[in-house]
Amino acid sequence: MSTQSDQKLSSSGETLTTSAGNPIADNQNALTAGPRGPLLLQDYQLIEKLAHQNRERIPERPVHAKGWGAYGTLTITGDVARFTKAKVLQPGAITPLIQRFSTVAGELGAADAERDVRGFAIKFYTPEGNWDLVGNNTPVFFVRDPYKFADFIHTQKRHPRTHLRSPTAMWDFWSLSPESLHQVTILMSDRGLPVGVRNMNGYGSHTYSLINDAGERVWVKFHFKTQQGHKYWTNAQAAEVVGRSRESTQEDLFGAIEQRNFPRWTLQVQIMTDAQADGWSERTGWNPFDLTKVWPHGDCPPIEVGVLELNRNPDNYFAEIEQVAFSPSNIVPGIGFSPDKMLQGRIFSYADAHRYRLGTHYEALPVNAPRCPMHHYHKDGALRFFDNNTKTPDAYYEPNSFGGPKESKRYAEPALSVHGAADRFDHRSGNDDYTQAGNLFRLFDSGQKQRLFQNIAAAMQGVPDEIKRRQIALFTLCDPAYGAGVAQAIGQQ
Ligand code: NDP
Repeated sequence: MSTQSDQKLSSSGETLTTSAGNPIADNQNALTAGPRGPLLLQDYQLIEKLAHQNRERIPERPVHAKGWGAYGTLTITGDVARFTKAKVLQPGAITPLIQRFSTVAGELGAADAERDVRGFAIKFYTPEGNWDLVGNNTPVFFVRDPYKFADFIHTQKRHPRTHLRSPTAMWDFWSLSPESLHQVTILMSDRGLPVGVRNMNGYGSHTYSLINDAGERVWVKFHFKTQQGHKYWTNAQAAEVVGRSRESTQEDLFGAIEQRNFPRWTLQVQIMTDAQADGWSERTGWNPFDLTKVWPHGDCPPIEVGVLELNRNPDNYFAEIEQVAFSPSNIVPGIGFSPDKMLQGRIFSYADAHRYRLGTHYEALPVNAPRCPMHHYHKDGALRFFDNNTKTPDAYYEPNSFGGPKESKRYAEPALSVHGAADRFDHRSGNDDYTQAGNLFRLFDSGQKQRLFQNIAAAMQGVPDEIKRRQIALFTLCDPAYGAGVAQAIGQQ
């Protein structure tokens, strides 16, 4: 790849030092008693090197471990100021960002060209703090209740005894969870195996809210449409790609940006007022905050907002991509949450993952730190390498009389009415999980349908017949031709 041949060879450099800055006289030979050894314990730099080597890995993300990322900008070309006061979304705004893409199930060293959902996570460094939009290349997800998130992920990871991925676990869970049908259909379709991240869409997936200057709230979904066009591998092509390179996506994204062939996505939003959401729910039976559902374009036409461009590769993969930490909890004035249960689960769980993975003050790392001033009262703990409010050193609690930072009521969100009894509501009861998955199926041309059937049949190899039958019955509820096509493809194997 050109990126490697561009490396400059050079014979001179700075004097090597310890991490404390002491010059090092010999970095080739360990300190020993006599030329044959043994080693001397006082060879501290040897110990330091071995100890550092042992600590070069941090816990990998339990999901989305394998990733690729770059820096760029979001430029607002449309006008949604009537819906939101967020500075990042005002006409003409240009906001720097970092984006990380990923696969979900594979470990850190997994091959790139695998059939899986792709993460599509963006951190916008706005003047009002970081806004993290932590989405996927699909507008929906496998589960709608965060109670099921860990169970679902267990089915994607390795079997505890065989240490192999288990198609039986996947299809057992999916066939018992009809809410997964929509996402399973996307995963098994062409879009489930994009040639790289430049050639796919991204979706905020959850419903969020926008709040304008007048304090009015609307519900919103975010979409990023690829300007590079959609491109996919078939299973057979992907097997050949993985045989050649396990890093096809990294090569594609990193290489394109090095060659100044900057990938771009068009940002669109869909909007629903509260009243529209109620009417839509009554008419369709769908919950606008259900992560397994889209808002059909016919009901909520996409509105063009701007362009996201990636134009700079990171210099240090570990520091900038492995340590970048996204959390849907990071929102800015003018953008808010919604009752989406999965969003609410992720608001807790993503930030918590980073506290564990990186350390308490993970947001102080350069890649995660906001580009605007920030003032908080969190105190000590891992990664507290930054100052302790040196301007107001006596103000380390709040309220205080020493000039420490204070809340500002002008950022308060309008009140949100919630009602209903506290209970554990059966989210599978009376929920239509079939129509939207069927609508997607009916969008496919005959070639796309045939590949869908074949991909499902291939993914079901070794799965017990009872589970296959249960899953085919669900596909049939989406569309009789869907169930029949999968049954036939399985029979042909
Ligand atoms: P529309 O025909 O108005 O929307 C079509 C949407 O489906 C577009 O966003 C398009 O994405 C996407 N699409 C087109 N072909 C494929 C494909 N082969 N695989 C996956 N997505 C495709 O109809 P609806 O809005 O009623 O949606 C119909 C179905 O389309 C939904 O049930 C859902 O499964 C899927 N879909 C809908 C989205 C939405 O927000 N409404 C978003 C993405 C998918 P693109 O513009 O990139 O071609």
